[in-house]
Amino acid sequence: MKNVDIVVPCYNEEESLKDFYIETQKIFKTLPDYKFTYIFVNDGSKDQTLPMLEQMASFDKNIKYVSFSRNFGKEAAIYAGLQASTSELVCLIDADLQHPPALIPEMLAGIEEGYDCCAGRRVSRDGEPKIRSFFSRQFYKLINKMSDIDLVDGAVDFRVMNRAYVDAVLQLSERQRFSKGLFTWIGFDTKWIEFKNIERANGESKWSFFSLFKYAIDGVTSFSTVPLRFATVIGAIVSAVSFIYLIYVLVRAIFVGIDTPGYTTTIFSILFIGGIIILSCGILGEYIARIYKESKNRPVYIVKKTNVDDKNKTNF
Ligand code: UDP
Ligand code: MG
Repeated sequence: MKNVDIVVPCYNEEESLKDFYIETQKIFKTLPDYKFTYIFVNDGSKDQTLPMLEQMASFDKNIKYVSFSRNFGKEAAIYAGLQASTSELVCLIDADLQHPPALIPEMLAGIEEGYDCCAGRRVSRDGEPKIRSFFSRQFYKLINKMSDIDLVDGAVDFRVMNRAYVDAVLQLSERQRFSKGLFTWIGFDTKWIEFKNIERANGESKWSFFSLFKYAIDGVTSFSTVPLRFATVIGAIVSAVSFIYLIYVLVRAIFVGIDTPGYTTTIFSILFIGGIIILSCGILGEYIARIYKESKNRPVYIVKKTNVDDKNKTNF
């Protein structure tokens, strides 16, 4: 008998929880060799998610929940769930049934084969706005070029992990967490299981275009320093070109004389160099902001209520 903790981040999921519970129970009944415990992480939901979790926990003793004092984001919820887990296998899954629980048996089989992690990979993006798919794909290309980690396109957070893998993820204690990158960074053997994108059954996606853009910047700045290098290289190129132009202007002034009109070139160079300086400051700023946030050393989340036994937990 192996114990499996099911970690479920939830933010305003009152409409999904019941279906999620029913669907997962159906699957778990077919797996008598495993004992499943839910760890729901209520990420500061504003709806009935917490009362529902409390009610569910009262009739199923295998339901644990950790409830945050406010919305800390999915990354924080994942971190809290993994920290609260104690069993030898941990399954991370979304509450909205976009991660099909029917894949869990296959994932567990993958672990039995000897893999440390068995994760889902979306092969189609049906039902997702075209523009969002386009930017996602570009983001993967960009981050893989710029960093020393290799993100798999379509890889989702849906996965079953063994204890060694989970402990490795937890060892990375950075505050601004980019799980997709952390999962890749730690190494280990991952088996990919492909599945077709499923549209959300209830409720709506919590991601706005702006929050995805922010997520992309977080991803790049946490795993790559190439943008800093980029600022240096652009600066060097512009300086070299300006220097050559300066010599040209000097030589011309000495031998041909000065021709007064120079408005276009002056305006052009002020704007061009000004633009590059501001861009470089922005890039620097992104990294300084990260250092600033990390150095404050604040906890990733604050727990307000939980029914998780806290004897062996230091965080809550
Ligand atoms: N989620 C969370 N905190 C947040 C946003 C989302 O815990 O601030 C949870 C959400 O309840 C769901 C999962 O993360 O279980 C994925 O969220 P969503 O479905 O909105 O994202 P998408 O599937 O569109 O990527
Ligand atoms: Mg979803």
